[in-house]
Amino acid sequence: MQENLDIFLPGRSNCCHVDQIPFNEGDEIVSFLDDELNRIDCCKDCWGKKTNKGKIFWKWIIPKKKTKIPPPDFQALEYFKNYCEEEDLSSLKKRFILAMYLERKKQMVLRKKDKKTHTLYFEILSSGQISVVKEVAIFPQEADEILSELVACLKE
Ligand SMILES: [Zn+2]
Repeated sequence: MQENLDIFLPGRSNCCHVDQIPFNEGDEIVSFLDDELNRIDCCKDCWGKKTNKGKIFWKWIIPKKKTKIPPPDFQALEYFKNYCEEEDLSSLKKRFILAMYLERKKQMVLRKKDKKTHTLYFEILSSGQISVVKEVAIFPQEADEILSELVACLKE
């Protein structure tokens, strides 16, 4: 995954980055990205006291084991990753639409939105990886076309 390093960031950890205390169900966690875009997870108590505050951060709760997480849709996720290496507008649009699709399918969750740079930070729930998606302007009709095209590809 070396080539995706700038887009796919490492997954979540099982313990606090600062005090190394393991996370438990129901714990409140703060995750943030450092200047090199490394994902760092720490407990609520360590956040801001023993860490440098990252600009991009989000809070979340360790889900209970009973919580149903949909099984990963590997095909759609793989498809999404395929668009990560392309930087042309058409690929950016497909990537954005796929991100919305995967969010709706509960495969990814939006953790942070940077309004200044129009950048969205999604977490892939099955792996904890953070994926950076550019928010691009798409006309509704165009979005429908792209989505039906993508869905057709996914059914193949
Ligand atoms: Zn801690």
